[in-house]
Amino acid sequence: MVQPDGKSGIEAFIAGMPKAELHVHHVGSASPRVVAELAARHRGSKVPTDPAALAEYFTFTDFAHFIEVYLSVVDLIRDAEDVRALTYGVAEDMARQQIRYAELTVTPYSSVRRGIPDVAFMEAIEDARRSAEKDLGVVLRWCFDIPGEAGLASAEETTRLAVDLAPEGLVSFGLGGPEIGVPRPQFKPYFDRARAAGLHSVPHAGESTGPETVWDALRLLGAERIGHGTQSVKDPALVDWLGEHRIPLEVCPTSNLATRVVERMEEHPIRQMVDAGLLVTVNSDDPPMFGTDLNTEYGVAAQLLGLDEAGVAALAKNAVEASFLDTAGKKRLAGEIDTYLEGWDRG
Ligand SMILES: [Zn+2]
Repeated sequence: MVQPDGKSGIEAFIAGMPKAELHVHHVGSASPRVVAELAARHRGSKVPTDPAALAEYFTFTDFAHFIEVYLSVVDLIRDAEDVRALTYGVAEDMARQQIRYAELTVTPYSSVRRGIPDVAFMEAIEDARRSAEKDLGVVLRWCFDIPGEAGLASAEETTRLAVDLAPEGLVSFGLGGPEIGVPRPQFKPYFDRARAAGLHSVPHAGESTGPETVWDALRLLGAERIGHGTQSVKDPALVDWLGEHRIPLEVCPTSNLATRVVERMEEHPIRQMVDAGLLVTVNSDDPPMFGTDLNTEYGVAAQLLGLDEAGVAALAKNAVEASFLDTAGKKRLAGEIDTYLEGWDRG
């Protein structure tokens, strides 16, 4: 069925459905609209300010281009006001997609190293978080991640920021960046400290490297959820372990295609994961940079899994279950999704 606005029935259902997102990066979520706002404040940046040129600049060509765009956006985050504008802008884009709750992965190391004072950085994200909740009804929580490629100095600094300066919205500790050439075990002492301070462990693993990085993440870093984990399906013992311990996977289909973790979308292992009984959540990773958003990712998942509206709602409730919301918060958001589905079924 095609709705008057051109959306198919399932797309319209997804667009209006209350959602949670668990794997989405702060700078990587900057849409052309937000980037234009930042670029306008910092003339002389190589990022175009004209909307058409900016849209062109954001058209994904290959992974090297993604890194170039990403770094040029990082270059626009120069003071605390930039951080606040970026964060609030990201929340506005989430509100438009009916995202009610998001755990946003923030890499404070990049900004602090570039000269933004650490306390000012924390105040900026917290100010944006409070405004987003009050004005937009979007609840944000933070995951501070180590940019793995920046080495152990970045791990030390990220741990210091997460443990000593923990902002109110901080719930978890992560590890991002490339997996190849960045062994997970070296980060154990930092995860130990973050976990001792009460933070949940959510490293990226099994994205571009095999199941062994997922095992490392589980055994050494105490992973409670896995960022991506796409390659887990290659190890049946790992699949059993993930299922038995209800370890959720943060699956990001379009990102996996863009970075060539999977060659063709039809080959994405999400179906195998679901068939194996794993707790699968759907996420957008670095949405504008991969030409996607969370609604699009749900559409892709619905197609790959052959889901109807009730199936899509069940997938959305997986993200609520896998989140670090408290019990009351989970109940409320899951209830909102149920109510939405019932209303839709009644037409
Ligand atoms: Zn990621």
